[in-house]
Amino acid sequence: MNRRGLVLAAGSAITASAMGLPAMAATPERKLGYAIVGLGGYGLGIIIPQFKNCQHSKLVALVSGDPAKAKRVAAEYGVPERGIYNYENFDSIKDNPDIDVVYVCLPVSMHAEYTIRAAQAGKHVMCEKPMAVSSKECEAMIAACKKAGKKLMIGYRCHFEANNLEARRIARAGGIGKLRYFRSEHGFTAGNPNAWRLKKAMSGGGSLMDIGIYALNAARYMTGEEPVSVYAKETTDRNDPRFREVEDMIEFQLEFPSGVIGSCMSMYSANQNHILLIGDKGRIDLEPGTRYEGNQLWVGQDRSKLVTPPPGPGATQWAGQLDHLSLCIINNKEPIVGGEEGLRDIRIIEAVYRSAREQKRIALT
Ligand code: NAD
Repeated sequence: MNRRGLVLAAGSAITASAMGLPAMAATPERKLGYAIVGLGGYGLGIIIPQFKNCQHSKLVALVSGDPAKAKRVAAEYGVPERGIYNYENFDSIKDNPDIDVVYVCLPVSMHAEYTIRAAQAGKHVMCEKPMAVSSKECEAMIAACKKAGKKLMIGYRCHFEANNLEARRIARAGGIGKLRYFRSEHGFTAGNPNAWRLKKAMSGGGSLMDIGIYALNAARYMTGEEPVSVYAKETTDRNDPRFREVEDMIEFQLEFPSGVIGSCMSMYSANQNHILLIGDKGRIDLEPGTRYEGNQLWVGQDRSKLVTPPPGPGATQWAGQLDHLSLCIINNKEPIVGGEEGLRDIRIIEAVYRSAREQKRIALT
């Protein structure tokens, strides 16, 4: 271990608990091998380049339906020939000891199948958000990983993002007094009407499944509470070719046991990325709040005090996310955003859709 590694290891137990992460033994030498399934915008564009920032995770395999692309990416990132798979021979990953973890970066309707097949091949799983198209699928994924004795983590990167961690720490420490109100709007402008995100069978739903889930998840991790009811309203122009199958705007209110009210808006027709917590002594404001880069945090009565957060657990939010799963595997701990966390969001999302459909408040059990 080099000097930086020693210093990091010594400080890790203290900082880990401050960040809500389990304390882990220092394991400097070992890097776990990841297979990325789906070389699309996120898998190839965002995740693969992040392994260079990791201390405990490395790229060892690729799964793609496009052999030429897989070969090109493998050459660029030093993945050996034996680490290249397609969707047909995917199950033979069980014979590749280089692979410890399968990272599922596929359209949502494929998450359950590839998570379950990975677990059956004896591999741990990182699965992208939203976990699956239904809570029933989420339950099957959890059961398959449990049966195989493998870890399952959901790609909730914001739990490793420095501004979000600092905002949560300040809120929990009473930095804005008693929390009364949480608000978050998340949206982007959807383009191509033929994209899988706009096909219900592949996405499981519209903006809420894809981007509104950030508002919902933030409502839960910022308050530290589980909502007891939801009330939702959908607004979608069904003549817009993008929204023939899935919703555009859906706003939903969450009631928390402490009396905190959460108010969220999810959109596929406008760009917005904002998290606001209002307490009886001040506000915590993040805008943008959950982007890849450039998130900003203000704490106080208004936006006069920009806060620079202490560094997160990794060099980037993705390095923190990937190394968290690797360390959980090495130390046999449960990930802070495991399958149950993904399932909770999907159960609430199902209740939000039901509330919008039936135009009534839905109690959550
Ligand atoms: P994408 O369309 O860019 O990539 C999807 C990949 O799946 C492509 O390589 C495509 O070839 C492959 N694929 C295999 N079978 C397919 C099929 N039948 N139809 C369509 N594609 C198929 O999508 P993406 O943006 O990379 O999203 C992938 C996952 O990552 C989704 O679950 C998404 O929610 C998630 N995601 C997460 C974040 C985040 O910040 N955590 C950001 C973007 C996407």
